[in-house]
Amino acid sequence: MEIRPTTEPQIELRDVFKSYETGAGEIAVLRDVSLQVPPGDFVSIVGPSGSGKSTMLNMITGIDHPTRGAVVIGGQTVHELSENRLARWRGKNVGIIFQFFQLLPTLTILENVMLPMDFCDVYKRRERKDRAMGLLEQVGIADQAHKLPSALSGGQQQRAAIARALANDPPIIVGDEPTGNLDTKTADAVFAMFQDLVAQGKTVIIVTHDTALSERTGRAIHIQDGKVDSDQRRERNISALDAHFREVV
Ligand code: ADP
Ligand code: MG
Repeated sequence: MEIRPTTEPQIELRDVFKSYETGAGEIAVLRDVSLQVPPGDFVSIVGPSGSGKSTMLNMITGIDHPTRGAVVIGGQTVHELSENRLARWRGKNVGIIFQFFQLLPTLTILENVMLPMDFCDVYKRRERKDRAMGLLEQVGIADQAHKLPSALSGGQQQRAAIARALANDPPIIVGDEPTGNLDTKTADAVFAMFQDLVAQGKTVIIVTHDTALSERTGRAIHIQDGKVDSDQRRERNISALDAHFREVV
């Protein structure tokens, strides 16, 4: 039997401890967090404000480094990369979506989506524009391509940010409260896009305050005081599949 190499990366946090030096002394934000996220997982991270959710995402994206412990993604220890190589590694491997979109205000939507491609050089220069337009079509805002971000609604800007996150076809997508600034209906539409990405085989990790949305992810990790309080996998997808098969049979 042919053994195929694993191309999709597993995410591993190994005893990750993170503290910050403050005027009031050292404060521990993550306390020995160990976690494995296999490829294709749809994970929500929930927990009180200040519990360490953003810090945990920043460990996975390499935006911040652990004080002790290791973050290993697809065999690569993320924080051992130099700043330059880390930026390139991130550009290819992780798409990041923020609560307040963080599109560059002086670039058009199309230019915003092309930016990561220009930076990482994965796609040939002449392919980039078509690819960016294709992504904007996928998220339903191709007609907004030549506008500046300020001309778009919040929901449209978040769609643009998702297209930008997908620019280099990264296997991992992370969102820090990606629906936190959207009304319920728009949040639902954006959430549905994350479900589509999971269906396409991507690993998606989102921080959310919205328990209704969290209940719809395959796995929910609850953080409290810098520790994993609970880590629950839901069988929803499997039972939905079961129901489908019962119908077919
Ligand atoms: P959450 O996203 O769950 O609201 P964060 O991960 O942003 O929480 O922050 C966790 C804790 O770490 C908070 O108490 C926050 O004030 C503190 N913190 C985060 N970043 C820094 C920093 N750069 N310097 C000092 N303290 C920080
Ligand atoms: Mg946060």
